[in-house]
Amino acid sequence: MRSLILSDIHGNLEALESVLQAAHYGEETYDAIWNLGDIVGYGGSPNEVTDRIRNVATAHVRGNHDKVCCGLESALGFNPIARQAAAWTAETLNEENMEWLRNLPHGPLPVPPFAAAIAHGSPLDEDLYILNIRDAWSALQQMQTRITFFGHTHVQGGFQWNDGTWGEFRPKYSSQNDPEQWTLELAEGTHYLLNPGSVGQPRDGDWRAGFAVLEEEANRVTFHRVPYDLARAQGHILMADLPERLATRLREGR
Ligand code: ZN
Repeated sequence: MRSLILSDIHGNLEALESVLQAAHYGEETYDAIWNLGDIVGYGGSPNEVTDRIRNVATAHVRGNHDKVCCGLESALGFNPIARQAAAWTAETLNEENMEWLRNLPHGPLPVPPFAAAIAHGSPLDEDLYILNIRDAWSALQQMQTRITFFGHTHVQGGFQWNDGTWGEFRPKYSSQNDPEQWTLELAEGTHYLLNPGSVGQPRDGDWRAGFAVLEEEANRVTFHRVPYDLARAQGHILMADLPERLATRLREGR
């Protein structure tokens, strides 16, 4: 059993298409494709990305930007740039995509028959960021499943806990421009909080789009980074009159 895991696409169509191509979507069979939320917000292609992910993913949870852009929550907690992007996204989304976003479930969502769940933020609260082991610690012990995939921080990697021993890891890559992958072997009896990284707006200093693949029987999760058409994605942001910073930060991976 195999699942493709995508998070924080943020309206970046070029990154999403590059990820689907690198994951051989359509040629290789996945038993499931999970979308961990923040489908829209920041990027210049909200309708195109929503249309695509609706057709591709088999399970979804909502992100904080999805909630604000479709009117479920106010943008008051957002910084001015995020707020401006959310207002533009709300104006741009068509009614059908708006309605679909409004009805997305919150995490944690179990995804049987896999022994895993998906969430946007923490499995304890969908809006909480898991940035360090302190944030992860109680969630790791209270999780109903062996693995929870989460997003929200746009930082690829994860946390593990096994009977009083815990750890944190980030995939190790050698390039900054080529497609790369890094494998995590899952240990028996260990609980994992795993972040596939952000497809559309990475913030871990690596501009390449991130995603992950779970192979449950093989006890293996593979983390990936792939380049995408950055100039085109930046162009959509600038043409939409969105803040310039949203385009420049894509190159920095910040
Ligand atoms: Zn996000």
